[in-house]
Order: sequence, then C-alpha cells, then structure tokens
Amino acid sequence: MKPMGPIPPYFEVRAGQLVLAGQPFSHWLAQVETTPAFIYDMGVVRQKVAAFRAAMPSEVSLHYAVKANPLPALIRAMVTEVDAFDVASGGELERVLAAGAAAEQISFAGPGKRDAALEAAIRAGVTINLESESEAARALSIAARLGVRPRLAVRVNPDFDIKGSGMRMGGGAKPFGVDAERVPDLVRQLVDAGADWRGFHIFAGSQALDTEALIATQQATVKLAADLATQAGVAPPSVNLGGGFGIPYFPGDTPVDVERIGAALNATLAPRPEILRDTHFHIELGRWLVGECGVYLTRILDRKISHQEVFLVVDGGLQHQLAASGNFGTVVRRNYPLAIASAMDAPGDEEVSVVGCLCTPLDRLGDKVGLPHAEPGDVVAIFLAGAYGASASPMDFLGHGPAEEMLVGV
Ligand SMILES: *Cc1c(COP(=O)(O)O)cnc(C)c1O
Repeated sequence: MKPMGPIPPYFEVRAGQLVLAGQPFSHWLAQVETTPAFIYDMGVVRQKVAAFRAAMPSEVSLHYAVKANPLPALIRAMVTEVDAFDVASGGELERVLAAGAAAEQISFAGPGKRDAALEAAIRAGVTINLESESEAARALSIAARLGVRPRLAVRVNPDFDIKGSGMRMGGGAKPFGVDAERVPDLVRQLVDAGADWRGFHIFAGSQALDTEALIATQQATVKLAADLATQAGVAPPSVNLGGGFGIPYFPGDTPVDVERIGAALNATLAPRPEILRDTHFHIELGRWLVGECGVYLTRILDRKISHQEVFLVVDGGLQHQLAASGNFGTVVRRNYPLAIASAMDAPGDEEVSVVGCLCTPLDRLGDKVGLPHAEPGDVVAIFLAGAYGASASPMDFLGHGPAEEMLVGV
C-alpha cells in the first residue's frame, strides 16, 4: 500500500459517516441531487480566519486571494470575514465587486491585464498592482483618458523566494512584478505623474510549509520594502507582504505554525525603519484559508479487478480535481487523503486504486491506497478540495460536465 496525506482535522465523524457543518455528507448530496460534488464548509474557513487573527499583529490585515476558489457564494461569505480581496483577472474583479466588496478593499495583480480590465479597475477605484513598466504606462494613459486619479501599487519581483515553497514566484527572471532594482524609478514616475501610489506588493511564493522559511521571507520582504522606499524617497502607504502559507497534503507534511509566524512578524515590525512607520501591512492567502474546507465527493460506479489489483472507478475524476491526480504543479504523484465517506471508522485494510471515469491513465485519484472495502454506490471523499480544485481543472475534458459546488455552514 502507498501512504495517503493526513485527513484535515476539522471534520466530525458520526456513526462512521463524514459530517460537514453538522450534517452527514449524504444530507448535502441529497441537496445537490448528484455526484460528483464539491462541498465547502464555511465553518472551517472561519476557524482559519480566527487562527490568523489570533496569531498575527493586529495591524496586519488579511486578504483573500480569490484565485484559490472563486465560487461566488464563497466570495460573498468572505466579505465579512477578511479585510480585503486580491484578484488576478478581470473576471475575478467582476465577481468580487458583484459580491459587494468595496473598491478600497480590492487589489488587482497578475500579468497580462487587458485594457478593458484596467479600465474597469480604474473606474471602480481598485488598487492595481502593476506588473511591468509598460503596464504602468497603459494604466496611466487609461486613467488620463478617464480623468481619474488611479490607485497604483508596484508589484516587486524580489531577489529571493520562499525556501522550499511549492511554487516559486520570485527570484530571478519572472513574468511577475518589476525587478527590484528598477522599482524606485518606476515609483518616482508614478508619483510624478500624479497617481495615487499605494505602495508595494511583494509575493515570493506559494504552498510553503516551512515556518522558519516563511519567517525569513517576511523579514527580507520588510527590509526590501524599506530599501526600495528609501531609494524612491517616498513612504509607502501599504505593503502587501505576500503569503504563501501552505497546507499539508501528503504523508509527512506538517502545518505551518501561524503563532510563531505572528510573533516573529511582530518582532520584525516593532523596530521597523522610520520610512515604514505609518505603513499598513497586508498578508494575502488563498490555499491556507480555503483549501481544507472543501471535500470532493464522488460515487463508485464500478469495482473491477485486473491482475489481482482492485480498481474503484468513480463518477468524477481529474476533470474536476486535477491536483489530486498529481497533474497540477507536482513533480512526483502522491496520494491526497481519501476516505469512504460512509465508513470513516472502518480500518483501511483493502489496497485499491481509485480511478476517475476519464479514458486516460492520468486519471488516478488514489494509487494503491488502503481503504475499507467499498462497493458501487459508495461515496469516496477526497479531501483538500477547497482550493485549486473545481476552477483549476479541465472541466470540459471528456465531456462529463462540471461538478456541483455548494457552500455550507454559512
Ligand atoms: C496565487 C497567488 C496567491 C495565492 O496563493 P496561495 O498559495 O493560494 O495562498 C496570492 N497572491 C498572488 C499574487 C498569487 O498569484
């Protein structure tokens, strides 16, 4: 048998049934009337938000990075939970504005912003995190045409990334942000052009589990912001310190220690350079906030044996949960945590592979995992489906259609 990652500790089990937001999984499946379905438990998100607030210095605000899960119901529920939203496309911007977030609560990053999206952001009064000098020029000319003073921040490509992070987004040649040494000139240009310069956005990586590396990155980020501001000769109203807090997916992964990170950040900010004295600091998180709240529920259609190996063929697959199949940003395929949702207490003593209904060998959701004996009709729960699941999977591949998504516990 091959190991699986740890099941997140946020879910109850009652009489062997997986319970979400106080109800057995079957209650929620009856409401969506079909499988496969993603069920997201807002109660888990609230626990994460509370843990962040308890750990972090109160002057640090919490942004939700919408890319992780852009479900409109979730965005709406987030409006009262987080301080602000980070969007990375014109479409995400529309969703966040439609959810009722105020423009001052939104910042817009991401390479390749269309003119129409820049215009929508400038009209609304959203802060644009500029990814290049040429994007800055486009934003300034659109704002001039509209007769609006744009809110512009500069995304910095730092000379470091988060050691050991799952996805490197800083350090060296990158499509993201402006190389640090060119940032002071750009800031002066923005200020001279009369823009409302909002400060810096410095995002060094994603899915980092090493607490010490996250602490070191935040220290380096604060220092970089102070150095760049000093060179530009102007104090930044705000600095987005990035985020990158990961969650445990695989055997041996351990959660980040947010209390340690909070204490260290407090120690970093207390004696900060004078130029950052009145600066407001932000942390933007996607996966850490919502990844653990989601469960992908998929029903077994067939149980078959090939060369003595048991295959459970389910009605979902990588078209909804690409990451669990190991084909989204992983080098080596490893098993997400899986369970039989009606047999949570039973020992996992049968070795099975859980495969999706796509006619490709890539569609493997569990490889030689130990699960209780299961039959067609039983439901497999795949955990850690709250972030980069439904919206980060090739939904139209093979034409089975999208999965249902439902937010519960609001
Ligand atoms: C993707 C992204 C995030 C979210 O990353 P998580 O790992 O989900 O927290 C935050 N900020 C920026 C700029 C991003 O591109």
